[in-house]
Amino acid sequence: MQFLLTLRRRGIADQAVLRAMDEVPRERFAPGGSGSGLAYADQALPIECGQTISQPYVVAYMTEQLRVLPHHTVLEVGTGSGYQAAVLSRLAREVVSIERYRTLAEGARKRLAALGYDNVEVVIGDGLAGVPSRAPFDRIMVTAAAETVPQALVDQLTDGGVMVLPLGPHAGAQRIVRLTKAGDSVEREDLIGVRFVPLLPGQAREL
Ligand code: SAH
Repeated sequence: MQFLLTLRRRGIADQAVLRAMDEVPRERFAPGGSGSGLAYADQALPIECGQTISQPYVVAYMTEQLRVLPHHTVLEVGTGSGYQAAVLSRLAREVVSIERYRTLAEGARKRLAALGYDNVEVVIGDGLAGVPSRAPFDRIMVTAAAETVPQALVDQLTDGGVMVLPLGPHAGAQRIVRLTKAGDSVEREDLIGVRFVPLLPGQAREL
């Protein structure tokens, strides 16, 4: 209850997004967060491989800004725990999520399968290149900070497609940016300030 109230109070208004946030059990994605109540606090949480799940407000905000419709195919770059992919899977027809750490990708696959979220496919690889074999995508969400807009991802958007990503220097001020593709041009809107782990090139060498 408190969880949804906090999201509403901070301005999340889309009913479908609030329902998805309510439905997905965050404690199943946040190791160590369960039991302590931390899973539902409005804060980011550490996961394996030195990565983090964003605070619920940022997950809900980015999801709302992506304007997902039930017939959409969505690409997420940066699977991490699988939590954001789970939220997207409640709103879209199909979600493809790519992660550069095998350990994280395999963990996310298990959690998503255990919850029966079978419209999510987790791919291991470099999300900077997108997933050309599954393109085009109606929506793309990037959950690690990019220093510049990855062109391969723009190329994999449908005409009229929307991408939401944190953009800015890895050690500095980043903003959530929404890009809308219209023919050969891309409209850009700068939204809230955020802090994300970096989007890094290549598949991770470590597990
Ligand atoms: N969305 C996740 C949290 C993401 S943290 C969740 O809900 O739990 C950012 C993730 O992006 C990390 O897991 C990191 O390994 C991954 N990442 C960073 N650069 C990447 C790249 N080029 N391709 C795929 N994944 C990447």
